[in-house]
Amino acid sequence: MAGAPDERGPGPAAGEQLQQQHVGCQVFPERLAQGKPQQGFLSSFFTNNQKCQLMLLQTLETNPYVKLLLDAMKHSGCAVNRERHFSCEDCNGNVSGGFDASVSQIVLCQNNICNQAHMNRVVTHELIHAFDHCRAHVDWFTNVRHLACSEVRAANLSGDCSLLNEIFRLHFGLKRHHQTCVRDRAIRSILAVRNISKEVAQKAVDEVFESCFNDHEPFGRIPHNKTYARYAHRDFQNRDRYYSNI
Ligand SMILES: [Zn+2]
Repeated sequence: MAGAPDERGPGPAAGEQLQQQHVGCQVFPERLAQGKPQQGFLSSFFTNNQKCQLMLLQTLETNPYVKLLLDAMKHSGCAVNRERHFSCEDCNGNVSGGFDASVSQIVLCQNNICNQAHMNRVVTHELIHAFDHCRAHVDWFTNVRHLACSEVRAANLSGDCSLLNEIFRLHFGLKRHHQTCVRDRAIRSILAVRNISKEVAQKAVDEVFESCFNDHEPFGRIPHNKTYARYAHRDFQNRDRYYSNI
């Protein structure tokens, strides 16, 4: 995987840009050559790769969005294995992650994910793409509406557009800010990975927006914060338990 960047090409996936004001999705973060010297504030104690692994572990074990998504993936027959389905790597530019649908793997850009909250957001966003990939035959490559739908869902459900994030971006006070944020982010994400005009991306998002914005699976609601996500997780577990007892 990590040693075969040629296999990537313009892939099927989605990624996150580091900058909060420009969270986009790349087709796939191009994987860099191995063996580059590690850099970073804590590099004398941990390598970027070790930090990435530790933050990922913390996210998988404690973040309610992620725990729900992992349960839902398992429930849909796509159990996630940390070592098989996640890869911490250095990435080009300010990409912070991506979902590589060709091998069902989430790439976490260890040189760009700067803290635990960022890791939580990236893993949640990419797991929503992975969930969509698991439950539906998503045509990531050629059907821009499929990509648009998953980007709308990821922006809507991952907390990317939570009020707190929006306040940090000084967008508060904007009427219907959540919908506006979701739409804008989905468009930006598509433009980051597809060589199409803004008008085509906007059209694709607008065509799917209503149905995909209202598709809250597997959360059952828009989880605006961790408390909502915890409730959603509890509801999902109860739903799961109920159906398994029938
Ligand atoms: Zn995305």
